[in-house]
Amino acid sequence: MVDCVVIGGGLIGMLSAWELRQSGLSVTIVEQGKCGMESSWAGGGILSPLYPWRYADPVTALARWSQQHYPDFIQRLHEHSGIDPQLQKNGLLILDTEDAAAATAWAQRWDYRLAQPGADEIRSLEPALAELSDSSLWMPEVAHVRNPRLLKSLKKSLLNQGVKILEHCAAESFLQARGSVQGVVLENETLLAANVVVAGGAWSGKLLASTGVDLPVRPVRGQMILYRGEPGVVSRIILSQDRYVIPRRDGRVLVGSTLEETGFDKSTTESARVALAAEARRLIPVLAEYDIEYHWAGLRPASPEGIPYISAHPDMAGLYVNAGHFRNGVVLGLASSRLLVDIMLGREPIIAPQVYEISLDH
Ligand SMILES: Cc1cc2nc3c(=O)[nH]c(=O)nc-3n(C[C@H](O)[C@H](O)[C@H](O)COP(=O)(O)OP(=O)(O)OC[C@H]3O[C@@H](n4cnc5c(N)ncnc54)[C@H](O)[C@@H]3O)c2cc1C
Repeated sequence: MVDCVVIGGGLIGMLSAWELRQSGLSVTIVEQGKCGMESSWAGGGILSPLYPWRYADPVTALARWSQQHYPDFIQRLHEHSGIDPQLQKNGLLILDTEDAAAATAWAQRWDYRLAQPGADEIRSLEPALAELSDSSLWMPEVAHVRNPRLLKSLKKSLLNQGVKILEHCAAESFLQARGSVQGVVLENETLLAANVVVAGGAWSGKLLASTGVDLPVRPVRGQMILYRGEPGVVSRIILSQDRYVIPRRDGRVLVGSTLEETGFDKSTTESARVALAAEARRLIPVLAEYDIEYHWAGLRPASPEGIPYISAHPDMAGLYVNAGHFRNGVVLGLASSRLLVDIMLGREPIIAPQVYEISLDH
């Protein structure tokens, strides 16, 4: 019998496992494919929501906590695993937005640094830009991580800490007795556990359906392309008309992303590739000189307003959920996993938890 089984080896499942293990619990992760190969791998790794002032306060509260704690966490992971997730604080430049008043009010309320740069400043921040817009915003403290490396680093660190990881192992249902969860049923065996955390990303609702909860989390496809650039070609995260460009340390440049309601279909389309490449050239013309190295898609776990469920199950003791982070699982995940474990262990929560709760109406 293990203290906790975590279902799902994406970023949210692995961060939940990290928090549980750091709190002294024994943990097993079950993952139907390979850990960290779904939405968490497909994402851009920006440690901020895009247009963050457009989100409800519960999203900002989680983002704020994570942003304050990511640098230390990344340093610890790097030391512990030997794999550097490459956190870079190179700022977010938002072009062509009419939101300056709302953004400024939001930044003042939450104490974020946000400026409205003039043309010369924009040019010096990002010399590769094609056009300078006089309605831009600049958030110098926004960072990003290289999420595939973060996932590798986290997995290695979890294994080093004695967390058991079962891959190619789908959880089929829950073992339950007298209103409490007793474990997880897999295809060929049953794992006994005192607690179970569902962190199944876009698939979480499917698993919970058998427990009387209709979790409104659905897959929303996002496609991205990757240029094999050179270091220094792009310096900042650039956001314009909901499309963005992210420079990696080795010169690679990500361009994303689409938002598509295509169910669990993860295929890529030629039309998205063409549209993303056109957007990349519009923003940073020099990218036309580089090859597109890769094009992929991932399924974001979308919830209403992008507010994740971080909660005990309303009707089954010992069962918990950490899912529905939509476009922001990388930035929200550190806080949501800490909050979940606070709830599980009855500790003082880092953030008031009620707004993230699942009720039986779901
Ligand atoms: C194109 C794109 C760009 C993005 N950019 C960003 C960004 O810049 N910043 C940011 O913060 N967020 C970003 N995101 C969002 C972020 O990636 C997600 O919110 C986050 O990865 C969700 O993590 P997760 O662990 O819940 O889901 P996933 O990574 O999808 O992991 C869920 C895991 O659960 C497993 N699973 C499901 N059901 C079962 C079962 N029954 N048994 C066993 N295993 C199961 C799945 O196989 C999967 O591995 C982006 C997403 C996409 C697609």
